[in-house]
Amino acid sequence: MKCKLCSYQNLQEIRHNGELYYFCPLCEFIFLKEEFIPGPHKERARYEEHDNTHQNEGYVHMFEKFITAVIEPRASEIDSVLEFGCGPGPVLADLLEEKGFTVDKYDPYFFPCKVFTGKKYDLITVTEVYEHLRDPLGITEMLISHLKPGAYLALMTSFHPGPDKFKDWWYKWDPTHICFYSARTFAWLAARFDLELVLLKKRKYCLFKK
Ligand SMILES: [Zn+2]
Repeated sequence: MKCKLCSYQNLQEIRHNGELYYFCPLCEFIFLKEEFIPGPHKERARYEEHDNTHQNEGYVHMFEKFITAVIEPRASEIDSVLEFGCGPGPVLADLLEEKGFTVDKYDPYFFPCKVFTGKKYDLITVTEVYEHLRDPLGITEMLISHLKPGAYLALMTSFHPGPDKFKDWWYKWDPTHICFYSARTFAWLAARFDLELVLLKKRKYCLFKK
């Protein structure tokens, strides 16, 4: 088995509850072995259980904090936004539109039209998505191709606590959360794609600049 990101081959196994994860000591990426990844029907059913609406105050507040910390300080540089993986209730997209940004929405299940085809954006937001990706390297490369020079890629996903504390970490309880990152993983991704790593914050925000 080799690392899905950096291809390093000497991975550490983490066995938990009958499942097998791999930890890469080089880039610190953790990923669930392929055979334990839930299929698309199970995955969609899980997303539909989420209360991702404007009525869920905690959910709205989570995005307001993300906007304040990551996007607002750069708002003067940003007009067009792609909200990638927005889910069934596109709360972040709506909040960004209220702030005057022009927002395209995409979600493979709920807004499947590939509105980003042939377009480049000032900002792509990808929140609570990276932990679901089977191919984070390919998706990152694709997203970067839709950024203008100097544009931003903003991620939100909880940073893992390291392989020793991983077994007790709540974030992996969701069966659709299949891969996990640390600050070092994001530094590796920045170097891999020649991006500037602008910000790492609260162990869940990451901002790249092309
Ligand atoms: Zn690696």
